[in-house]
Amino acid sequence: MANEKIPYKIYLEESEMPKQWYNVRADMKKKPAPLLNPSTGKPVTAEELSRVFCEELVKQELDDTSAYIDIPEEIREFYKMYRPSPVVRAYCLEKQLDTPAKIYYKFEGNNTSGSHKLNSAIAQAYYAKQQGLKGVTTETGAGQWGTALSMACSYFGLDCQVYMVKCSYEQKPFRREVMRTYGASITPSPSETTGVGRKILEEFPDTKGSLGCAISEAVEAASAQEGYRYVLGSVLSQVLLHQTVIGLEAKTALEKYGVKPDIIIGCAGGGSNLGGLISPFMGEKLRGEADYRFIAVEPASCPSLTRGKYVYDFCDTGKVCPLQKMYTLGSSFMPSANHAGGLRYHGMSSVLSELYDQGLMEAVSVEQTSVFAAAQQFARVEGILPAPESSHAIRVAIDEALRCKETGEEKNILFGLTGTGYFDMYAYAAFNDGKMGDYIPTDEEIAVSLGRIPNIGD
Ligand SMILES: *Cc1c(COP(=O)(O)O)cnc(C)c1O
Repeated sequence: MANEKIPYKIYLEESEMPKQWYNVRADMKKKPAPLLNPSTGKPVTAEELSRVFCEELVKQELDDTSAYIDIPEEIREFYKMYRPSPVVRAYCLEKQLDTPAKIYYKFEGNNTSGSHKLNSAIAQAYYAKQQGLKGVTTETGAGQWGTALSMACSYFGLDCQVYMVKCSYEQKPFRREVMRTYGASITPSPSETTGVGRKILEEFPDTKGSLGCAISEAVEAASAQEGYRYVLGSVLSQVLLHQTVIGLEAKTALEKYGVKPDIIIGCAGGGSNLGGLISPFMGEKLRGEADYRFIAVEPASCPSLTRGKYVYDFCDTGKVCPLQKMYTLGSSFMPSANHAGGLRYHGMSSVLSELYDQGLMEAVSVEQTSVFAAAQQFARVEGILPAPESSHAIRVAIDEALRCKETGEEKNILFGLTGTGYFDMYAYAAFNDGKMGDYIPTDEEIAVSLGRIPNIGD
């Protein structure tokens, strides 16, 4: 089919959807460093992790040898309600940029949660149900993860308790209502309902919260209730694994038309969508079968890959979670009130951190106003109103396409369009009113939180 004109949207048949997730760790010669127990400094055992996480998910978290893991039938059935998601050829954007590059994006915003997060939420809820649990607790920052998890829990009849970062809770009342419609209960974090929350409030009474802090509260709440476990929507290797449906579908779709991407771009918060998108392609690179350029895009206000350190650090403010070796700005880092809420985490997936450290992936950071300029440009020609997070990838896809214009290269660019931005209209309003700023932390500020990282494991 290589000579056929490529349609605007490449859809797969249901029968072409992946039946297994792909675990890129199996093909990494040097594996990501193990999670450590903060009290012993030793690698965490499955048994220790099972007190916090669901058993099957613990197995997936610790498995760095099985290349393929079966997607259970019930999860595949749920996936069929909103997948396969299309790979779109951005003909209109290419024309507007007058670039010889060919731009493709994998669009994950076609479900009510408005993002790719549902791919992992449904898997995590399924395993919790299998284990016979009553419910799960979690944190949400921008709100997409909480929404996705509420949807997944209501599908399987599980209770869902969400700790929502206070500034989002206040700024995004409609996100909250979507979650409540699906039956979840929402608590603004930090709250008085947990010991960690009370402690943080005592120290910082006016704080509007952070992801790291909401994680600590959700973990504590899970441990305090019989039949509950904690689930997380990013960062962990299990989440990255579930998100490989994105990359597997994209690869199958492009191969139908004989297209091989030269550059693959994704925004990086905790790394799950980017990891999911690039995994099958990275596998080929690791096995020496093909070469690709991979680019992680992060906000200049929270630049963990480009300005952080690759060390063991806490995943949460309350220091209750295992230590992970990752690119980090330090768990005490408080990013400025950037509008790309889903990208405000201090650390990065251990899988992506290791790949980046080995020089297999690049990273760039971009400023907020340039991201919104790209979002607007994209929306006006491609129709979709992108999430601010996703727009980081759009920014760099446009920059790469413009570079191709200068050099005359006909490169194939693939990027992940992770979601829609309907709940981010305050951010769009600030941009439209010319009131958006570009806060970039100084070296001194970053040095403070880096200085508080524990000296463990190296
Ligand atoms: C959560 C989120 C992200 C960032 O999370 P990753 O784990 O890095 O993928 C990106 N885009 C959207 C729309 C999100 O909701």
